[in-house]
Amino acid sequence: MSDRVEVLLIEDNPVHMRLIENLLKRGLELNFEVRIAERVDQGLALFEEKPADVILLDLMLPDSEGFETFLKVKGRVEPTPIVILTGLDDMQLAVRAVESGAQDYLVKSQLNGELLSRSVRYALERARARAGEWKSPMLRLAHQQFLKAAQLMNLDDNLRQRLLFPQRSQVVTLPFRRDDYGQVETVFGYRVQHVLTMGPTKGGVRYHHDVNLGEVTALAMWMTWKCALMHLPFGGAKGGVRVRPDTLSRQELQRLTRRYTSEIIDVIGPDKDIPAPDLGTNEQTMAWMMDTYSEQAGHAVPTVVTGKPVVLGGSRGRKEATGRGVVFVIEEAARQRGWRLDERTAVVQGYGNVGSHAARYLDELGVRVVGVSDHTGGIFDSTGVDLEKLDAHVAEVGTLEGYAQGDRLTNAELLELKCDVLVPAAVENQITASNAGKLQCELVAEGANGPTSTEADDILTERGITVLPDLLANAGGVTVSYFEWVQGIQNTMWTMSEVNERLRALLQEAYRRVVAQSEELSVDLRTAALIAGVDRVARAKLMRGLYP
Ligand code: NAD
Repeated sequence: MSDRVEVLLIEDNPVHMRLIENLLKRGLELNFEVRIAERVDQGLALFEEKPADVILLDLMLPDSEGFETFLKVKGRVEPTPIVILTGLDDMQLAVRAVESGAQDYLVKSQLNGELLSRSVRYALERARARAGEWKSPMLRLAHQQFLKAAQLMNLDDNLRQRLLFPQRSQVVTLPFRRDDYGQVETVFGYRVQHVLTMGPTKGGVRYHHDVNLGEVTALAMWMTWKCALMHLPFGGAKGGVRVRPDTLSRQELQRLTRRYTSEIIDVIGPDKDIPAPDLGTNEQTMAWMMDTYSEQAGHAVPTVVTGKPVVLGGSRGRKEATGRGVVFVIEEAARQRGWRLDERTAVVQGYGNVGSHAARYLDELGVRVVGVSDHTGGIFDSTGVDLEKLDAHVAEVGTLEGYAQGDRLTNAELLELKCDVLVPAAVENQITASNAGKLQCELVAEGANGPTSTEADDILTERGITVLPDLLANAGGVTVSYFEWVQGIQNTMWTMSEVNERLRALLQEAYRRVVAQSEELSVDLRTAALIAGVDRVARAKLMRGLYP
């Protein structure tokens, strides 16, 4: 960061102007150059003349008032960070502002030099980090969700800054040989460990052509909150390789996985960080990771990964666990609503590990699954998709493409089908401001991570559609991963029904806690789940204290 920070202060009260300018100029760490405008139009004109590093914005100005002021300025200056300085000590407004992208909300009557200069410094650091490798819509979503919860909890601002970015992140480039021996590809790989406070870190490995540090960081953050919500003794982590797995042969995938594992070998381990499967990886990937790690250790170390095959010490029920967990949570929500599930319909987006198992268990409960999809498109059958036939087709072809029964439709059309339960179980950012108004379901159960944008969340809440958030709805995977790790450490093996009953009990308990929290704080289920997770991590950090 250069030592000179250009601040644009938009403030009409001369006393406050002087106060803020003085506070900034007295700050020791940074050299602030302050320009002042009294109205929004003047401020924007000054910004156009010469951009600022940060904007300090009063909300009550002669030409604009309240939240509108923020939106007007944000629309013209993005991505420059905005810190709101206001006389209004209004929690709802503060939450709305940070959720919509304000970096901080400071109440003038509580202002002092230290608070102001730290807030500006943190705002600048966040903007700088997000402009680089961390630039990602998913991280923006994870940050907005977290800052909203932090604002509602009045979380200490140092903890807020610390939890916004990972404690450790490793970026690697790795070469692997294609089957044509002379051809070598070099790709980017990542392993991000968000919070090291709670125990070893835990999180999947994703192979996808869009993976980047920001996306992996967002996923690692969500893992932290998810593990904390489920009371599992892990911090969050995530890994990924930017590659198209469907263009690689089995041998190529094996070489890539082994090289990725050896590049991150120093930061993983049964007591350090335990990978698992995610998008584009599966139990075979975990078997190769375990083997590579074990070869280096000189003995078998099954507990270094979870989601491995049962024959290598995997847990019964792990492969199905995320989809099964989604359905356990749907069952709880249905019970609360007094629904009979055999009178209900569902649509599932994504027919991979999570989606196909969720569809199967819904079908077993008598729910009519009228639509499913994958990246090649969707299928609609009002009488219910024949999942057995579909599974046979997918086993042969690999995708839904060419499946003859039912009507074909796009993923966008599938999401708007009339049904009781919609299960997005594919990729992020599927339910957005542009389609949230058109959804025709009563419940959204998030199998995928981050499928709903914050704007869409607001629209769904307004429309009375309940979202069972990813932190809770897809927590079955990491919970059974925890069971697998425990079984590995104890050299024991639980039966399928032991696994499923323990999973059901933990998810039911978490569901009830989240619902109670949401009623107590009058917030949606996502915010309630986030607050529960963030609060547990914050308390643990405070208990451990600051080293040195
Ligand atoms: P997967 O690779 O097994 O399956 C993904 C499915 O989504 C495939 O059918 C693919 O064709 C489909 N898909 C990809 N892009 C799509 C698009 N744009 N539109 C529609 N379909 C698309 O992956 P998975 O393990 O089932 O993971 C799915 C989601 O669930 C991810 O968001 C992942 O982070 C999340 N998740 C997975 C687990 C787990 O245990 N596997 C646990 C928690 C959360």
